[in-house]
Amino acid sequence: MSNGGVARDGELCTTCGTCVEVCPSGAADIVGRRVTPDELIDDIERDTPFFDQSGGGVTFSGGEPLTQPEFLNEVLDLCRDRDIHRAVDTCGFANRDALRTVAERVDLFLFDLKFIDAGLHQRYTGVSNDRILDNLVMLSRMSKAIHVRIPVIPTVTDINGNFEAIGEFVAALPRRAPVRLLPHHSTAMEKYARFDMEKRLPDGVEPPSRRELERIASRLREYDLEVTY
Ligand code: SF4
Repeated sequence: MSNGGVARDGELCTTCGTCVEVCPSGAADIVGRRVTPDELIDDIERDTPFFDQSGGGVTFSGGEPLTQPEFLNEVLDLCRDRDIHRAVDTCGFANRDALRTVAERVDLFLFDLKFIDAGLHQRYTGVSNDRILDNLVMLSRMSKAIHVRIPVIPTVTDINGNFEAIGEFVAALPRRAPVRLLPHHSTAMEKYARFDMEKRLPDGVEPPSRRELERIASRLREYDLEVTY
């Protein structure tokens, strides 16, 4: 019991599912399921008519898909055998060799870039960005198609000099990459409490306005980058 009522301790929970079975109001649920690559490709193939119509394909996202590189590679190969376009949405914090093997199977990377300053990256994400920046350069050297995605978070990423540093870095990549601005939204805020996670964002951060996004996009375009939001 906690002050707010019955609470689940994420450290102790083994996801056995008993509370879901006994919850009288059906309020408890376990989200997610285990699948094999073959089961997943069966699901993916059902959407082939939509891919054909839209020119789309599969985006492997998460969480972070590169935490499961062997599984990801198996499914990417199955998609390639079926001529399905493959994108991977990543924060770039991945083992270099694992990323290289995944990259050989991917058509497009959606690569998040939050900070160039290592201290700020450490402060807000809990890890250094050395590996992330190195990985982005490696993918660019491999001539992979990359969309660089920058979260725009007022007072966090939208601070003096950050977007200029990112603009300079992206403009210097071996292969040009378009930039997509991702405006902050508050959808995830409630999840921090639910998953007992430390919230590193300051309180009261609001989504940026269109005008602010245009200001940032204009600044990045000064580096001769293609920028959309
Ligand atoms: S799933 Fe529910 S019953 Fe099982 S350990 Fe977690 S909290 Fe306890």
